[in-house]
Amino acid sequence: MVSNGSLRPAAKFPCPTWRFYVPDAWPAEIFNINAMDVPNKGVQARLAALRHDYAQKLPGRLAAIAGNWQRLCNDAHDAVTLDSLIHQCHKLAGSATTFGFPDVTALARDVEHLLRVVQSGEHTLIEVHDQIDIGLNALAAQGDLQPTGKPAAHPASATPIPASPCGSPIYVAVAPDDSRATLCEQLAHHHFEVGAFATGKELLDACRGEPPAALIVDAELPDMTASNVLEELRDTVTRAIPSVVVSADGSLTTRLSAVRAGASAFFTRPPDMPTLLDEIDALIRQRRSDPYRILIIDDDADNAQYVAHTLEDSGMRTAIVTDPLCMLQALEEFRPELILMDLYMPAASGAELVAVIRQQHNHAGTPIVYLSAESETFVKLSAMKHGADDFISKPIAPEHLVSTILARVQRFRQIRSLVINDSLTGLLDHGNTRDKLAAEVARAARNGHPLSFAMLDIDNFKEVNDTYGHTAGDAVIRALARLLRRGLRRVDSVGRYGGEEFAVILPETDLANAAKALERIRDQFAGLRHSHGHEEFSITLSCGLARFPDCSDASRLNDAADNALYQAKAQGRNRVCVYSGSGSGSP
Ligand code: GH3
Ligand code: MG
Ligand code: MG
Repeated sequence: MVSNGSLRPAAKFPCPTWRFYVPDAWPAEIFNINAMDVPNKGVQARLAALRHDYAQKLPGRLAAIAGNWQRLCNDAHDAVTLDSLIHQCHKLAGSATTFGFPDVTALARDVEHLLRVVQSGEHTLIEVHDQIDIGLNALAAQGDLQPTGKPAAHPASATPIPASPCGSPIYVAVAPDDSRATLCEQLAHHHFEVGAFATGKELLDACRGEPPAALIVDAELPDMTASNVLEELRDTVTRAIPSVVVSADGSLTTRLSAVRAGASAFFTRPPDMPTLLDEIDALIRQRRSDPYRILIIDDDADNAQYVAHTLEDSGMRTAIVTDPLCMLQALEEFRPELILMDLYMPAASGAELVAVIRQQHNHAGTPIVYLSAESETFVKLSAMKHGADDFISKPIAPEHLVSTILARVQRFRQIRSLVINDSLTGLLDHGNTRDKLAAEVARAARNGHPLSFAMLDIDNFKEVNDTYGHTAGDAVIRALARLLRRGLRRVDSVGRYGGEEFAVILPETDLANAAKALERIRDQFAGLRHSHGHEEFSITLSCGLARFPDCSDASRLNDAADNALYQAKAQGRNRVCVYSGSGSGSP
């Protein structure tokens, strides 16, 4: 369970007893591990050997990529080298996370996107040269090649606005053939890449070849049940694949066997498409989501390291504070999603620290769990009264510790997202979008970078409600939310500003690139076919764009984007307009 790790001081934090803990083996393939899913030691040993082997080969692969890049820089028209470079980056992106290098995956994927933009002729090599260079340098910096749980030091400028919102494919194995065809068609409409399979065997073979981002499987395929498929997958494919089971039979027995086989969701046939699309989207996002951040406050460094190892081994990210007086700094910089607190420390007691944490507005809701050998019930109860959430008594089996922490931190993240996000779309709500815009503008001002801000509004949306009803209108709003979430970069923020109005914050992005990204979203949205019973309809959106520092603060930026949106409506809708100071024009 516990890997042999190393402690690396984090240079960023001057406080000597506040460190990031980085284990040697970072099992990224179990990032989204269920609380129940702690793999057994045999599997872990095999995975560790695989990761070790991969880490050994990684410098060679990076060197090969650097060599090809050099060749391409010498001859920008060398299509063969470009192709081979794309292939190398693609393979690296596809495998690195599985072997404990999530940052390598993220960086390689970004470089791959940029190279594909060059290959498609959308940009010249010269235009994106610097971005690729930054990305490759960041990749090369992974060169000491200790797998790490830290998020990528990821220059936003190296993160392209994706050319297509599709990531890995979604596999669909649903019987009968016409249901499968309809499902695939709908998924494809919403810009998911789809693979369709008639039998369980075909699906399994495909998953072993290229594991999909998620799969939709029929409870009863012609040759096997969904449960058999999922069980076989669990035994043969290392990383968990989010799966949705579809069945005509919604009985508890069928649902139970899906749950027991590890299905993430269950739908009765025919599935409600908007809900199914949201579910798939959420499952994919969950898999890509950042590891949970756990802060361990304990003056006993050995003990803290042991706990950190155990948690990191299950995909969490940890930081250790051994001197309680450094706690505030760690809280601000690390932004933990759960705090594990020792009870007895020389400078301050755990209970006192809990009281301090609870007085901080930002951390008033962060779960705090004591981990202590204290056995006296009275002492435990007294320690809880300052606002801690739980008390774990030592000694505790690593599996038990992991499942207790995971259950709490998963719930915390889920509830937090409900609080700050809009309930229909899961996007930031109005207030949080405004807050985010203010924070990003402040950051852009500090760093001297531009920032683009877009306001979008669905055209003639009232007619959709009037003609097809409010539920159909809601489905349209959710479809646009999905497009925005998947079609933009991770660094971009998307909020639902009001009814059918959305806002997008694009850090480190100038107007030309922002307009290109929003134009693509506009085009994709206009191409979506929404269904209402047997009827289909499509609808468009208008968008207004403005840029910091042309508009010097968040409020002016907001007004300018709104102004440009008004212009887009006035000029006939279904277009993107850019605020240009004196007036707004189409890009
Ligand atoms: P324009 O192109 O000028 O934006 O026309 P519009 O019809 O989209 O704009 P208008 O502001 O007249 O109407 C917006 C409609 O959006 C009215 C409101 O009932 C509807 N709406 C707002 N929020 C929701 C929602 O959450 N769900 C649904 N279904 N409709 C909503
Ligand atoms: Mg409106
Ligand atoms: Mg509207």
